[in-house]
Amino acid sequence: MSHIVLRDVRKTYRMGNNLITALDGVSLEIEAGQLTVVLGPSGSGKTTLLNLLGGLESPDSGSVRVGDQDIAGLKNGKLTAYRRHNVGFVFQFFNLLPTLTALENVALSAEMADGYAYGRAHDPAEMLARVGLGDRTDHYPGQLSGGQQQRVAVARALAKNPALVLADEPTGSLDVQTGIDVLKVMRALNRETGQTFVLVTHNSAIAGIADRVIRVGSGKVQNIINNPDPFEPDEIEW
Ligand code: ADP
Repeated sequence: MSHIVLRDVRKTYRMGNNLITALDGVSLEIEAGQLTVVLGPSGSGKTTLLNLLGGLESPDSGSVRVGDQDIAGLKNGKLTAYRRHNVGFVFQFFNLLPTLTALENVALSAEMADGYAYGRAHDPAEMLARVGLGDRTDHYPGQLSGGQQQRVAVARALAKNPALVLADEPTGSLDVQTGIDVLKVMRALNRETGQTFVLVTHNSAIAGIADRVIRVGSGKVQNIINNPDPFEPDEIEW
């Protein structure tokens, strides 16, 4: 479903009198089922790219084809529906709801996607077990470590069984070992489910685990490298 093709995508932001070019004619492909890393320094346009893939924003021009749909031209309601049904997000700072338990955080996301109605969503408790938190379902985010919170966030992103999982610096606020654990969970789920994963990072070590690395700089694609034999997260020199 989610083979992704971007053609000549441009996105600028206006800041007062200045126009800031975030994406300057980006063309690329992301293979369905692969784990792709978008790598680049701060300010290179990575988050903008992820937000376009996730339907959080629309480009000024160009096409963003996800599966058989060009989401670049979708209006608000349709873009929201696209996002809700097709995309799971993982953020740097987890973004869990603090007044809900781990289980409720995961269940809410699935419900909001109408996952249960479609019979598509995973059981939230089972999802938490799959990220190694079967014994933490009733904990609130404040009672969990950073790494555990991020694993809840991964379970939440996948609970609605989205075709596309987007992660923005998912290990950016974790120590190295905890980050490796989160990447192991994501890599394993990617292989199990065949869902398309796109991870954005400035950390070149993480690129070693990817099937494909798209390097960006100054809003442009600099190169794309396919890696038929990626490292496991715990095999990398961090
Ligand atoms: P990265 O994720 O690689 O750090 P971003 O996509 O966040 O890069 O940003 C790319 C450029 O666009 C940066 O110069 C940034 O300051 C600018 N930018 C991003 N979002 C906005 C926004 N909402 N308003 C104004 N400028 C923005």
